[in-house]
Amino acid sequence: MLNHMTSDNWEILFIDFNLATMTNSSSNYGEILGGAIAIGSGKILWIGKKGNLPNYNPDKVKVVHGNGQWITPGLIDCHTHIIYGSNRAKEFEMRLKGKSYQEIAGAGGGIISTVEATRKASQDELYEGALKRLNTLKNEGVTTIEIKSGYGLDLENEIKILNVAKMLDKNSPLSIHKTFLGAHTVPPEYKNNPDDYIRIVSEEMIPKIAKLKLAETVDVFCENIGFNIQQTEKVFKAAVKNDLKVRIHAEQLSNIGGTKIAAQYNALSSDHIEFIDEEGINAMTEKGMVAVLLPGAYYFLRETKTPPIELLRNNNVSIAIATDSNPGTSPINSILLMLNMACTLFKLTPTEALAGITCNAAKALGIENTTGKLEEGLNADIANWDIEHPSELSYQFGVNYLLSLYKEGELIT
Ligand SMILES: [Zn+2]
Repeated sequence: MLNHMTSDNWEILFIDFNLATMTNSSSNYGEILGGAIAIGSGKILWIGKKGNLPNYNPDKVKVVHGNGQWITPGLIDCHTHIIYGSNRAKEFEMRLKGKSYQEIAGAGGGIISTVEATRKASQDELYEGALKRLNTLKNEGVTTIEIKSGYGLDLENEIKILNVAKMLDKNSPLSIHKTFLGAHTVPPEYKNNPDDYIRIVSEEMIPKIAKLKLAETVDVFCENIGFNIQQTEKVFKAAVKNDLKVRIHAEQLSNIGGTKIAAQYNALSSDHIEFIDEEGINAMTEKGMVAVLLPGAYYFLRETKTPPIELLRNNNVSIAIATDSNPGTSPINSILLMLNMACTLFKLTPTEALAGITCNAAKALGIENTTGKLEEGLNADIANWDIEHPSELSYQFGVNYLLSLYKEGELIT
């Protein structure tokens, strides 16, 4: 139990900061102007107006004086694919020179080229590549990140990727949430037998990965160019049987009803959802699923249909935002750029956008009881910004106003 009345356990006290607590994010960031936060043992022990601070011993507490700068929760990137071999810049260039999809595929491009490069790469090579992307996100205030597998597409290589995620979790100060995305695409060796591949994902890979505790969540790319509803359900059944939570890539390019099926398996989130309909949204509301919007992929693919933001709002669906950082459809490693794109492309308000990479992103990962808000008892994941108002984080990009970053009370940037 936390003792709210004494300052005995306080280690660091931030005074004279404005706080975007995100505890009531629908109105003004849950802001506390002229606030203070005390942290100790990795947790937030006290938060409120400076004037309400209990007595404390300034010799025993490290006091950090602000000057009206802002503190937000540490940011959360709840949907990424940052572990992969090589990149697809050549393909990008070919496309812009007018080459067709077939010509690009013929020259070894597309997702399968990433699968081949990832299979060839050693664990250390994958680690080095992913660490750069992870550190870039950390430097923008990210303290928690989800990483999906899905470029191995066989047991050995999927395990290799998830082991890299585990190593990153161990060696970096960030919390890494691991997701098994074996059902990302059909590997070349099963090109003509996708059902056989799904059987292997469900009956061999998921039990093994669950046993090795290499993932907390299972994801499926459910789409007319991905896996169909029956295949998606088979994977979800296996996940639930092995005590893993599920999420889904759905309704990005078409609507085949993926979100509704995911809701039946109590999915944490449905991600992309440009083409979701009212039925899908109702299913999300009923199960408290989070809508994870990925403006980077929308931008990079030059999509034109935006997610139905107004319907999501009207149905009280929590909205999260993420980078979807991946080499094919969102080679974008900036969570701050996502804030801007969520506002400019999807017309979210800056408050909604910030909720999308804090409290609602935590909910998409099922960790809302430990992080994503500034609240007593939660992890002291704290980002300190040299800004006059939190809307600045969404308003401009290309400038990084992060002053310092704490993960569970430790200064990490
Ligand atoms: Zn994705």
